[in-house]
Amino acid sequence: MASETNTVSADKVVSIHYTLTSQEGEVLDRSGNDPLAYLHGHQNIVPGLERQIAGKNPGDKFQAVVEAAEGYGERMPDAQKTIPREAFPADAPLREGVQLTAQAPDGQLIGLWILKVSDEEVLVDLNHPLAGQTLTFDVEVVSIRESTEEERAHGHAHPGDGHGHG
Ligand code: ZN
Repeated sequence: MASETNTVSADKVVSIHYTLTSQEGEVLDRSGNDPLAYLHGHQNIVPGLERQIAGKNPGDKFQAVVEAAEGYGERMPDAQKTIPREAFPADAPLREGVQLTAQAPDGQLIGLWILKVSDEEVLVDLNHPLAGQTLTFDVEVVSIRESTEEERAHGHAHPGDGHGHG
């Protein structure tokens, strides 16, 4: 008899293999040799994918189509900003394609994606590179285990049996 408890649900550590494809059929991302382990119900993965994995069992293979609103968000207009280079901390990795986190005046953390770097200025985009896109995930649920107290406190999965950061 199948175990009712070994189902993707809140606070389980779920290991998946996945391939992420754009609407144009371009492969954007995929798991490596080892599956991706994440803590379910803690927003470790995009909401639409998390919602569609819920209730699955180890060995299940399925395709999840995730609209932008449940993926990386709709694309905001006028989200590209030119910022003087000296406004960044000296150790900031100012390279094209790097994601930085900045604190807005109201204290909220916002993501910035670097588009272009010159001697004087940095062109950033407040949109996630995949904002506005419908995402297709081909997913295989590899395994599911209980999380540790530490993982639940941290809000993410730890390698192996979940004790420590490895
Ligand atoms: Zn941790």
